[in-house]
Amino acid sequence: MLPTSDIKPDGGLAMAGQSVYVCKSAGAKKYHFNRNCGGLKRCSHEIKTSSVKEAEAIGLTQCAYKKCR
Ligand SMILES: [Zn+2]
Repeated sequence: MLPTSDIKPDGGLAMAGQSVYVCKSAGAKKYHFNRNCGGLKRCSHEIKTSSVKEAEAIGLTQCAYKKCR
């Protein structure tokens, strides 16, 4: 008989509701956790806050900068 253990999400789901920053440029493809991220500094458009869920729903992916956490 298998022990019943809690299956926990591996972090990814835990931050699904976290707010992130997105550049409202048409070419933006990333969302950022850090408002001061270098990727956001290049943004010449409005920067808006969103949730991870919303950002991914419009096709954005997580910024790859290590400092952007
Ligand atoms: Zn970033």
